[in-house]
Amino acid sequence: MFNKFTFVLAAILCLATISRAQSEIQPCGADEHYQNMLVKYPQLAEYEKAFEDQLGRRMAERTSAAVDTAIYDVPIVIHVIHDYGGENLPDTVLYDAAAYWTVVYMKENGDTADVIPTFVPYVGKPGMRLHLATKDPNGNPTKGIVRFQSYLTSSADDEAKFGQWPQNKYVNIWFINTFGADLSGVAAYATFPSESFYQPYYDGIICLSSYASVSDASKAKTIPHEMGHVMNLYHPWGNSNNPGVACGGTDHVDDTPPTKGHNPSGCTPAALYDTACAEGYMVTYTSSDGTMDSVVNYPDTANSQNIMDYTYCSKMFTKGQAARMRAALTGSTAGRNNLYTTANLAATGALAPMPDLPPVADFIVNRGTGPTSDLRAYFLTFNNTSSFVFRNASWNDTVSSVEWDFSNGAVNPTSTSMTTVTNQFSVPGWVTVSLTATSNAGSNTLVNTQSVYVADTTTVGGMGYYQNFSSAGDVANWPMFNYYNNQFKWQFYTGAGIGDNSCIRYRSYDSSNRQTGNAVGDHDDFYTPAFNLTNNPDNLYLNFFTTAAYTNHGISSGTTLVNDSMEVDVSTNGGGSWYRIGGFGGTRLPNNGNYGTEFVPNSATTWIPRAISVAPAYRGAQTFFRFRYHPGNTGNDMYLDNLYFDGFPAGIKEAITAAPNSFNIYPNPTSSGFSLVFKTGNTGTVSYSIKDLTGKQVYENAKTFASNSIQQESVSRSAIPAAGMYFVTITVDGVNMTQKLVVY
Ligand SMILES: [Zn+2]
Repeated sequence: MFNKFTFVLAAILCLATISRAQSEIQPCGADEHYQNMLVKYPQLAEYEKAFEDQLGRRMAERTSAAVDTAIYDVPIVIHVIHDYGGENLPDTVLYDAAAYWTVVYMKENGDTADVIPTFVPYVGKPGMRLHLATKDPNGNPTKGIVRFQSYLTSSADDEAKFGQWPQNKYVNIWFINTFGADLSGVAAYATFPSESFYQPYYDGIICLSSYASVSDASKAKTIPHEMGHVMNLYHPWGNSNNPGVACGGTDHVDDTPPTKGHNPSGCTPAALYDTACAEGYMVTYTSSDGTMDSVVNYPDTANSQNIMDYTYCSKMFTKGQAARMRAALTGSTAGRNNLYTTANLAATGALAPMPDLPPVADFIVNRGTGPTSDLRAYFLTFNNTSSFVFRNASWNDTVSSVEWDFSNGAVNPTSTSMTTVTNQFSVPGWVTVSLTATSNAGSNTLVNTQSVYVADTTTVGGMGYYQNFSSAGDVANWPMFNYYNNQFKWQFYTGAGIGDNSCIRYRSYDSSNRQTGNAVGDHDDFYTPAFNLTNNPDNLYLNFFTTAAYTNHGISSGTTLVNDSMEVDVSTNGGGSWYRIGGFGGTRLPNNGNYGTEFVPNSATTWIPRAISVAPAYRGAQTFFRFRYHPGNTGNDMYLDNLYFDGFPAGIKEAITAAPNSFNIYPNPTSSGFSLVFKTGNTGTVSYSIKDLTGKQVYENAKTFASNSIQQESVSRSAIPAAGMYFVTITVDGVNMTQKLVVY
């Protein structure tokens, strides 16, 4: 069974290799990926050897037969995994790129004219045409490009390979924004056929979007290189080390002379005529009866212009590589030999002309006009001067016009802008946005009923407000955003709570079958309605209770597995700007430890109080709060209930009530002022004194309050002469109570 944490361990074991690679540009991570697979599946080595033997036999059969000139047609599909940034590549860039890949695989690339004379006789023709599919797996028309929004476009790895089409019918190619730390410095990687045997659902090529365009000659061979791996080509130095390390590796191809390999900058004459490992290189062939048949004297120079090397001047495959690729393609491993069958070409529409299809309407919400603004504003009050900005991101055809339609009393007239439209809304609630994109081939309309939320400025309370989330109606104006439309999200929950059986939950537990839902990079928000927090006493706390756990998926180490966090921000200008006032990370959230199954609190004692001080600067007449949750891969569910405003932090008053003849100091330890919380007696008069360790009194005071009430007294830092430990004594109705105070 697949377990992604095994992958993490494998990555750690390979850290030494990877860190070396980071110091230089390493265009391809296929070997890294293969080595990780070997750790995970040691039997892969055996399987690969058997496959290699089989491949050798087939190659021998082929080369002994008449010269094979068959051309193979191979369906491909491009998945653009994006978050509406620059990685959301235009269709045209990808069409141009796909066309060029075929040029290379048909040996029609003009730069083969620049191959050094030594290797001119060896330039090979893979004889493959790569076709963007015109039918998807369901038989529906497509132009061979699909798009999917995900935070995994950044720090990508295998988990970013969303929506794979059947790998024995299409070669899948994913473009992403950046790779994660395990693949740092890599431009792309691909899976060998033998790897695909173990993980067919990851079979394909994954590549930085910045390496897609073929207008940059240094990057144009990236996908042809990776396609070489898909067709079982190794790097010329073998598949077990990095370039420049050692002679002695092999790619199982005779006409690529032995080499240590070259780095991208290695297009110098020294590299082009590098003889380091190749001097005296020749191969002895035996005939079928075991006797020597022939000796072939191959070049004593490395083929640094080979597409499977790392130089940025790569131009060619060799004839031997072409034969090896064709042997892999015509082999059954990973179903490669199904790709070019007549039936599959018909099913995928690979040979049909590209259909003229209507656009796919799409848009994104963002503030500002930049294409990759992080300041996406989904929440603003009505008529807010910080307008919502909607950006057209329609694709799949040349869009000739767009038409926007907005609900909620949109102020601006409907715009026909092809890029962005700015809007304000006069009616609170979720906005329905409709975008119709039109091309010569027709129109497509996207209707989104929860793209942005217009908040009411009517306040629902202030000091003394108490929300126990007892029904779904209680959160009607507490909008929750699941930005990436996945299983990690805020929700109103019935089945747990304090005082009742309902609350708000963040669903951080990964309930997917293989636990492959990589959560890192996701975030989700919920927003409160407006509160009036003016005219409040010195201390004001946003209080609530939470209960949470983590899940270690069988890994035994402790706190490093706690990856979830939550932040609380405040806005006093209707969502125009936000300020962080609280954060809960590390072990602070999961107070119930490790749960192997989905955590559900079963008693009130599992909940703990949370208090966030709201400074006077953030107490507006219309104050909103935003709760932002960042799930991690070891998260479990977090529940939040009983949110209220008070002059005391949550839990303090409750503790005093529960334990008569006690008092509380908070914060303690403290570097600033602090408060004493106590219950007054029958007289209402309370006296306090603070003494240092020598018994010297540094502070004293006495006050009279309402009798038998919970009160607090603030003491400023300046009342304490120096950092250190003190004893605070409170006297109520003649009874002395003493506690330690630490000032730092
Ligand atoms: Zn490679």
